[in-house]
Amino acid sequence: MLLSNTSAMDPPPFLPVAEPDLSVREEEAVLDAVRSGWVSSLGRYIDEFEDSFATFCEVPYAVSVSNGTTALHLLQVAKGIGPTDEVIVPSLTFVATAAAVRHAGATPVFVDCDPILGTLDVKAVARAITEKTRAIIAVHLYGHPVDMQPLRALADKHGLFLIEDAAEAHGARCRGARVGSLGHAATFSFYGNKILTTGEGGMIVTDDPALDARLRFLRDHAMDKTRRYWHPEIGFNYRMTNLQAALGTVQLSRYDEITARRQTVLDRYRQGVLTSRFGISFNPSASWANPVPWLVTAVLPEALASHRKEIRHSMRVYGVDTRPFFIPMHLMPPYANFRRVAADGSDQLVATEALAARGLNLPSSGNLTTADIERVAEVFEAATKKIATHSKQA
Ligand SMILES: *Cc1c(COP(=O)(O)O)cnc(C)c1O
Repeated sequence: MLLSNTSAMDPPPFLPVAEPDLSVREEEAVLDAVRSGWVSSLGRYIDEFEDSFATFCEVPYAVSVSNGTTALHLLQVAKGIGPTDEVIVPSLTFVATAAAVRHAGATPVFVDCDPILGTLDVKAVARAITEKTRAIIAVHLYGHPVDMQPLRALADKHGLFLIEDAAEAHGARCRGARVGSLGHAATFSFYGNKILTTGEGGMIVTDDPALDARLRFLRDHAMDKTRRYWHPEIGFNYRMTNLQAALGTVQLSRYDEITARRQTVLDRYRQGVLTSRFGISFNPSASWANPVPWLVTAVLPEALASHRKEIRHSMRVYGVDTRPFFIPMHLMPPYANFRRVAADGSDQLVATEALAARGLNLPSSGNLTTADIERVAEVFEAATKKIATHSKQA
């Protein structure tokens, strides 16, 4: 994959779960930004990236920030969400969603997920709402959108601010509309393993001009627009650099190419022996959704799921990296004591815990060849044979 002229004696190349898709065009754009001298947070690439990203999301405003976590934090601060407020979030997500709620000083309330899609369960959200609820963060998990229309109706009925955490789903569609255009505002990440990358980086999109202005003000040390070095509030330095935006501008222009290559990889997995022989299902897709291929997510049959750790370990020995699904937030020390709500109103997040225990992410980069994907399957098979022998011996 990386080396074309490996001899039969060399070990096969290591296959990581994720690698950025970068071309010579990103290289040229970053070099251009360096040569222009605009290396900090002013420059033409910032404006260009924000404008083109807003267009991409089919919304009027996009505000670039330093990463996806600061995007979530800044948005909550801008809306005045704080210590007396509850924010409903899925338990099955990357930790940044929950951490940002805590950074804002608010209280997360963890809801269960749809057992197949893994995204938050709208029925659980409905049961989780109290007088203290201020906002909901809907996470488009592993590239699959949340069913936003019923969630938006619920949020509007209760006067709640609806945030989309679209860090893992740039360009996905829900009933035809782009993610980012469905809540009151949305956040994105451009970390190195995301669909589009700027190295580190983030974006907030919205259709609210007042929110756009407030985010820009807070992002830039809360400096008064007309009086320099006058700061009427406590602000942040959460800006993106022109170097990152140069990378992002080119990445966004290559969106179709980048996602098409990732889709081919996912399709090859689906057509392979992991599905036919092991009954593994890959990235689910609801009829109303156009998910995007972020990480390849394999849900293991229960008999194999109980051996996930050993399977991962053997695959790693054979040079194939994998990742378990995110650990549910409510199982980790800083988040264990907050309220949890399932669709039946109980505090047992059964769907979340079941899916988290069975999920496995496989090498997902767009540069994987058919041979690489076959190797992942072979290595998986070898790993399952090992557990079979061990259990016979036991
Ligand atoms: C990656 C990610 C983030 C955080 O983005 P960073 O840019 O790494 O700070 C937030 N939420 C979700 C769901 C993510 O996957």
